[in-house]
Amino acid sequence: MAGLSASVVLDRELLQLVSSLVCLLRNGRVVFLNNAGVRMLGLTSADEAQDELFESFLVEDYRFLLEAGWELLAEEDFLPLKLSRPDGQVFEAELRVRQTPSAADIFLVEARDISKFVKSAEALREREERLQGVLASVAEGIVTINDSGRVESANPAAERMFGFTRGQLAGHDMVDLLPENQRERHNRFFDAYMAGLFPTLMGRQVEGLGLRRNGSMFPMEISVSELRHGRHRLFTAILRDISDRKEAEDRIRRLAHHDTLTGLPNRNLLNDRMNHALARIKRHGGHMAVLYVDLDKFKPVNDSLGHEAGDFVLQEVARKLAQCVRSSDTVSRVGGDEFVVVVEEITKPGEAALVAKKILDAMDTPTIYQGHACHVGASIGIALFPQDGTSIEEVNKAADLAMYRVKHSGRNGYCFYSDTEGTVLAATSPIDDI
Ligand code: GH3
Ligand code: MG
Repeated sequence: MAGLSASVVLDRELLQLVSSLVCLLRNGRVVFLNNAGVRMLGLTSADEAQDELFESFLVEDYRFLLEAGWELLAEEDFLPLKLSRPDGQVFEAELRVRQTPSAADIFLVEARDISKFVKSAEALREREERLQGVLASVAEGIVTINDSGRVESANPAAERMFGFTRGQLAGHDMVDLLPENQRERHNRFFDAYMAGLFPTLMGRQVEGLGLRRNGSMFPMEISVSELRHGRHRLFTAILRDISDRKEAEDRIRRLAHHDTLTGLPNRNLLNDRMNHALARIKRHGGHMAVLYVDLDKFKPVNDSLGHEAGDFVLQEVARKLAQCVRSSDTVSRVGGDEFVVVVEEITKPGEAALVAKKILDAMDTPTIYQGHACHVGASIGIALFPQDGTSIEEVNKAADLAMYRVKHSGRNGYCFYSDTEGTVLAATSPIDDI
């Protein structure tokens, strides 16, 4: 420390106790270096550094920093840079430069080896990048939600699912992603969960509806789990757009309950509806009419114009029948050219007769297939519940019998099962009261 003024003669012993590099510089040259500094710089003794320019310990790429002057460097909090050892080894360091208050030409330099910290930060960043890569590649939407219900982060799949561009979903309230009519329910559950109720909700897969940014909705499957993050509670929701699965399920359900040619309910769905109607009537009273409709002279359409023409006529008949009833009634195709119409909540047989007449009227207009007029009529048998049977089977049988009566009496008309004489009525017959 020869040459230093008394005011800057520092207690060497104290500086030797410091675990980071401490160095005093005058005109940029080392006048003191503590033992930790000797070790950090890979020297054998402090003498080796004596009078050396501090600059010589800096990796060349960083030397330009010193051109700014030590005064300016002393204004910085910390300077991250690279130092090198005589054996060529380079390490990351964090420098802090201060001007000594009593001697303006003397600067104190402290340095910490931060190689380990930089390495672990790099490893952390790599891990983070890998994780982001995984999150970006999964098909499921993943969002994290904070304890006030706000989206903190969302992966690209979640953003795509709700129609957001990159980085736009974060910050939204979770309820923005739900249809309006589900928001209150969601908030109630959220509040209840936060208050300690419904702990079993977590981790369960539930189905709900998602709301896209453009206002359209889609069915989604959600499972939420909770992460405790210090004092904070963070929720991770895994979301799956299940539109395709729902469509497939609907298609299977439709196939199981509908006739593929006409789209009308098949026998299964008809039985279901009749059972419901029957149960309702048994509980609350009322009447129901079952009309068995078999087309007249349908086979000749097939024979003369081909099966496709026959198919077309069946589709047209299905459409006409559906137009003859209210939406609460059921029109079903139960066989080749056999249909069943269930008219619910009738107050008098006349209402069933009215439907039968409408059907016969509609059949009067021929179906045009590729320029050919296809004339088919209909024979309709009508049975009533509870008058003509106490079960679906009995009522169906009665309607079928009545239909055959019409066939045997010359076709194109309707007949009530209860008509003991088997009167077949034309479309213009009068309507009776119950
Ligand atoms: P009827 O007046 O006595 O009722 O005789 P019909 O000519 O209407 O013939 P019937 O009711 O005895 O038979 C129905 C015919 O419908 C038999 C079959 O060839 C035909 N058929 C059954 N299913 C289909 C179908 O899906 N498409 C077509 N094109 N024809 C069908
Ligand atoms: Mg027929």
